[in-house]
Amino acid sequence: MRIAALIVAAGRGTRAGDGVPKQYRPVGGIPILARTLRALAGHQDVAAVATVIHPDDKSLYNECVAGLEGLLPPVSGGATRQASVLAGLEALSSTNPTHVLIHDGARPFVDAALVSRVIDALRTHDAALPCLPVSDTLREHADGLAGDTIDRSTLVRAQTPQGFLYDAILAAHRDNQASNFTDDVALAVAAGIETYLVDGSEENIKVTAPDDFERSERFLSAQQETRTGSGFDVHRFTDGDHVTLCGVEIPHTQALLGHSDADVGLHAITDAVLGALSEGDIGDHFPPSDPQWKGTASRTFLEHAANLLAARGGRLTNVDVTLIAEAPKIGPHRETLRKSVATILNVDLGRVSIKATTTEGLGFTGRGEGIAAQAVATVSLPSSASNP
Ligand code: MG
Repeated sequence: MRIAALIVAAGRGTRAGDGVPKQYRPVGGIPILARTLRALAGHQDVAAVATVIHPDDKSLYNECVAGLEGLLPPVSGGATRQASVLAGLEALSSTNPTHVLIHDGARPFVDAALVSRVIDALRTHDAALPCLPVSDTLREHADGLAGDTIDRSTLVRAQTPQGFLYDAILAAHRDNQASNFTDDVALAVAAGIETYLVDGSEENIKVTAPDDFERSERFLSAQQETRTGSGFDVHRFTDGDHVTLCGVEIPHTQALLGHSDADVGLHAITDAVLGALSEGDIGDHFPPSDPQWKGTASRTFLEHAANLLAARGGRLTNVDVTLIAEAPKIGPHRETLRKSVATILNVDLGRVSIKATTTEGLGFTGRGEGIAAQAVATVSLPSSASNP
């Protein structure tokens, strides 16, 4: 099997209100279409992904897919959904698919298990439809009055991705260009393609009306988990005239000794963020034995940890750092240090706390032999992005 996915995103989304077409609007900070594309392109059995877009949306599309890899160039859609799908199917022919999954761009919450159910059905059937039973009683109505009950046992709610033998659905679309079906299974059934039903998913909603955006936000926040990491670091004093703490050079009668710039504050925060992600520690990512990190500004390390967090779809909730030293005095520099950390992490100042303490003359920090730092980072992460 060579499976291609065709994402249909050429609609204007007028039911969701004026402005930017709904598929380009964010839910949980990420455009709907970007979530949809990530779900399909990320499936292990999907070899190629193409998107049909409205010709006016090219710049919106390019902005939306920035950073996503492995997508075919977008295809310009036609006047109807059906014309758009045909254009997309024709464009996919260059990738020689045996099967195609046709999916609504506005269904961002499709999960890998549902995609797999459709693909599994295609191993033994020419077409597959994910669907759900109807649980509400259905009734005819007219002029504000209830009419006859409809037998719901004969009905299902159709979702996407709908899967097909590529050649069969392409031929059906070519042969039925005068008709206007609302989905591809309708066309397939009309063309005599036997379509097997598989279980859909209640989460796999089509984001259509303004209410759906609110529902999506609620759904996503329920999918987030809060994780915490801690970091601790020590560097000893050596000869010099300043120390670097949290990315800021502070004049002092000594310097801190280290392979990089010996910024204990940023090292502790970096380890805290890595810890929250279960991604090892700073030494795993930037081995001290590697000469390329000699003298490196430690913001490089923290930016790396922040990028790992972002790549997993996570956000920093807050970071709290305690610098432990007899000298230099941190108080006068505290706000500068906070701003420095907030800038490196690209978060609001209110998410960064910096505190300082002495150890009352006790221990190595008390004897003025070095500076220690401890940090706690809290992050919000999609549960599905938890690594094994
Ligand atoms: Mg260190």
